[in-house]
Amino acid sequence: MKKLLTLLRDNFRHKGKRQQLVNIIKEKGVTDKKVLDAINTIPRHLFMDSSFEDHAYQDKAFPIAADQTISQPYTVAFQTELLEITREDTVLEIGTGSGYQTAVLCELGAKVYSIERQRELYRKTSKFLQKIGYRPKQLSFGDGYKGWPEYAPFDKIIVTAGAPFLPKKLLGQLKIGGRMVIPIGKDVQIMTMFTRKSDTEFNKKEFGNFRFVPLLEDKN
Ligand code: SAH
Repeated sequence: MKKLLTLLRDNFRHKGKRQQLVNIIKEKGVTDKKVLDAINTIPRHLFMDSSFEDHAYQDKAFPIAADQTISQPYTVAFQTELLEITREDTVLEIGTGSGYQTAVLCELGAKVYSIERQRELYRKTSKFLQKIGYRPKQLSFGDGYKGWPEYAPFDKIIVTAGAPFLPKKLLGQLKIGGRMVIPIGKDVQIMTMFTRKSDTEFNKKEFGNFRFVPLLEDKN
């Protein structure tokens, strides 16, 4: 029990650094107060290996298990802001990873379904989110390119790995009026937002370059 409490500690030093991180993200242009508040609330250092704890509040991506990364906080904030999450939203996330983005979506009150392709991360993050009290609707170990037909359509879809091409099945799982935010490209990705106008029409808008670990095709 004592070890658990130590592990889960979120002290004044962490909180102070977190506020500084929020200021940096604001300076970079994110204005949505709910998103900034979520970043200010969630103890990012607990989502990382303890050897990186001192770096948790830098605005950088860091390694997690299975050769993956926890996304840069600015990127998380930027993608989340584009989604305009409300409490009524059912959201599909592709790439659970550390669970940090999942926690941001939960903090905003969304019903979150998240898919991860690395079994090790799926297991670890499922346990961890439960331990710190975030309750996504469901997590899944599987291939995000396929989406999650059982729970579709979704109000919002967020892809947190770099997609070499647009996964068509994901677009098909978006509600009319819903939006999907996805970084598309091979070495560098262009942040792209699709808004579904009708069964067959989508609006597309691009938001500049980002770098993500690749969205890999099914290995199972
Ligand atoms: N949202 C995560 C970002 C992790 S990096 C976070 O906040 O920590 C991207 C994640 O996408 C990695 O965990 C990687 O394993 C996962 N991924 C890559 N290809 C995938 C696929 N086809 N389906 C589901 N997840 C995938």
